[in-house]
Amino acid sequence: MSRTAPDAHSLPPEEVVSFHDADTGASGVIVLHSTALGPAAGGCRAWHYASDRAATVDALRLAEGMALKNALADLPFGGGKAVIRLPQGDFDRAALFRAFGRTVRELKGRYVTAEDVGTSVEDMGMVARETHHVAGLPASGGRPGGDPSPWTALGVAQAMQVAVRHRLGAELSDVTVAVQGLGHVGYALCELLHEMGARLIVAEPRSEVAARAADRFGAMVMSSRALLSARIDVLAPCALGAVLDAETVAGLRASVVCGAANNQLASEDMADRLAERDILYAPDFLVNAGGIINVAGEYLGWRAPDVRKRVQGIALRMEETLARAARDGATPHHAARAIAQDRIAHAPRQAVAA
Ligand code: NAD
Repeated sequence: MSRTAPDAHSLPPEEVVSFHDADTGASGVIVLHSTALGPAAGGCRAWHYASDRAATVDALRLAEGMALKNALADLPFGGGKAVIRLPQGDFDRAALFRAFGRTVRELKGRYVTAEDVGTSVEDMGMVARETHHVAGLPASGGRPGGDPSPWTALGVAQAMQVAVRHRLGAELSDVTVAVQGLGHVGYALCELLHEMGARLIVAEPRSEVAARAADRFGAMVMSSRALLSARIDVLAPCALGAVLDAETVAGLRASVVCGAANNQLASEDMADRLAERDILYAPDFLVNAGGIINVAGEYLGWRAPDVRKRVQGIALRMEETLARAARDGATPHHAARAIAQDRIAHAPRQAVAA
């Protein structure tokens, strides 16, 4: 493990720890963006990055997003993220995640890991053999745990309801929602929205999954590109980051954007472009906090009803954010950022449990 001075970033991280596993050839970084509110918590992403630099840039962005998300969700956690650059060809996956677990252990509780894109409950099981600073393990005995996606979907649905009332004066049962990506979160979101009476349009490259959504929810299926310029009320990005760039924002015909994908804005100024077009953008790091709330509950020993109550609190935070945006003449994205940064800046310094 080696520690390097971080690159310049919009808000500099406290520490960047590099990880290298000589046996599998895997490399990566753990970014501790902030520990002001508690241990830096955020999942571990494993991907075939083109370079170490690409992996580090992704980790820096994601760790900052986690710091904002955890602060806004009022969790006793700072923000962090691990990114592993997977080796090409065959490798011993269990050994890799045990090596990663040993690096997490060396941080003595300053970083808490969990699943993210490209990692699974099984991978976290390997990490747990080396350190107890890990969540996302199978749920047991009424305790939170396992796949956090249904909680993420619940938080997005709650925030969407607030956004639709605010922008359109309507209920979810009155509107058409287009869901981009029917993975763990997107499909669960469709289930909730269908129960709430929304009309659904979906885009998903796995055609059998799209067909299942058409069958179960009466959803109309479109290509992802067509969905981004369709006449809809709400767009719910639940696949990729950076989906809201100059071109897609110019072509959007939705009144609200509210979805689970991390880092939906290709650049910060897209928040202003959306506002100029009178599109209410619900900040991703506010609305998609359900998963990390569940992870926090697992790590801190809460019970499932406590997790549900906190996830439902996302609706309240969405209302607070809209009120602050109106007060400050800011976009909801910038208002949410300001609320989170205030919390981090005014946090009492505290010791992180080892
Ligand atoms: P996932 O990998 O299960 O699902 C992503 C889905 O998007 C897949 O079904 C994939 O086929 C589809 N997809 C890929 N490219 C697409 C395209 N161009 N158009 C439409 N669909 C496309 O991931 P997930 O766990 O459901 O997470 C979705 C997003 O939400 C990610 O950005 C993730 O970082 C974010 N997120 C997830 C959680 C969680 O609890 N899982 C929490 C917070 C944020």
